[in-house]
Amino acid sequence: MKAGMIGLGAMGIGMARNIAKAGYLVGVYNRTAAKAQSLAEDLNVIAYHQPEELAANVDIVLICVSADQDVLAMVEAIALTVKPGTIVVDMSTVSSNTAKLAAAMLAEKQVAFLDAPVSGGVEGAKNGTLAMMVGGDESALEKARPVLEAMTRCIMHMGATGSGQATKAVNQIMGAGINQAVTEALAFAQAQNLPMEKVIEVISGGASGNWFLQHRGSTMTRGIFAPGFKLALHHKDLKICQNMATQSGASTTLIDMTIADYERLMAEGYGDEDISALYRLKSD
Ligand code: NAP
Repeated sequence: MKAGMIGLGAMGIGMARNIAKAGYLVGVYNRTAAKAQSLAEDLNVIAYHQPEELAANVDIVLICVSADQDVLAMVEAIALTVKPGTIVVDMSTVSSNTAKLAAAMLAEKQVAFLDAPVSGGVEGAKNGTLAMMVGGDESALEKARPVLEAMTRCIMHMGATGSGQATKAVNQIMGAGINQAVTEALAFAQAQNLPMEKVIEVISGGASGNWFLQHRGSTMTRGIFAPGFKLALHHKDLKICQNMATQSGASTTLIDMTIADYERLMAEGYGDEDISALYRLKSD
């Protein structure tokens, strides 16, 4: 199965490397062409100049770009040249509605679309240990599975198109709560003049331990907020969650609070920092 990867950002680059390592990657496309060129040289694959060109030459198209309109722009381009029977897998975090629109556009071309957002951060993308939540046709997932397994430690079929993105929304709400909890608790620890590395180590081993504390605790308390997961991207996700929660009548307390905090940080120019930059608001 020949795979092509569209989007070589913080996540896409690690994903592409793992697909190449498993022997499936034939080519890559990135909006900023220089990134595609240098990765393609490194991996000995083709750097396509347009997504249309990539789509015409592979059996599975993998996408990981920023937001809803970016996914739809890529799918519109792909739809011009994609062969019937190809599978398109979108690993970006977008709304369920976008997934449904993309699936409908591609269905006209006899092409299956899977919404397959991931969790596990840039470390998970680099190490091939992402958790993937998939919506769409289960037989298409089974065909794509060998390629997807090169990037993941867990792949879960969640149901019809859009259910992968709905599951990711669950994850993003939880991520907001964890960010609020960890940044506030560690700012408190620092105000108590506790030895921070010991605090992080001992709490990581107990009932309040979590991935975010382990991977971002030490850096945030030293004022380092390199992404990671850009705050502006999590803000984009929480706006999707807010919309979905409002429509279904679910609570939005945590979502609203985190959106307001992120908007304050983005207005101060911190949108491209890691989400752990929320620590800035807890420690002033
Ligand atoms: P990123 O580093 O900002 O990279 C974004 C990628 O999308 C870049 O390759 C960018 O191209 C491309 N792109 C953006 N708009 C585009 C457009 N209109 N047309 C074509 N390409 C476009 O973001 P990331 O961290 O890799 O995240 C990618 C997706 O994964 C997002 O939906 C994010 O929410 C999700 N995600 C991120 C993480 C994480 O920890 N970072 C974890 C799970 C899921 P250029 O190089 O030209 O800018």
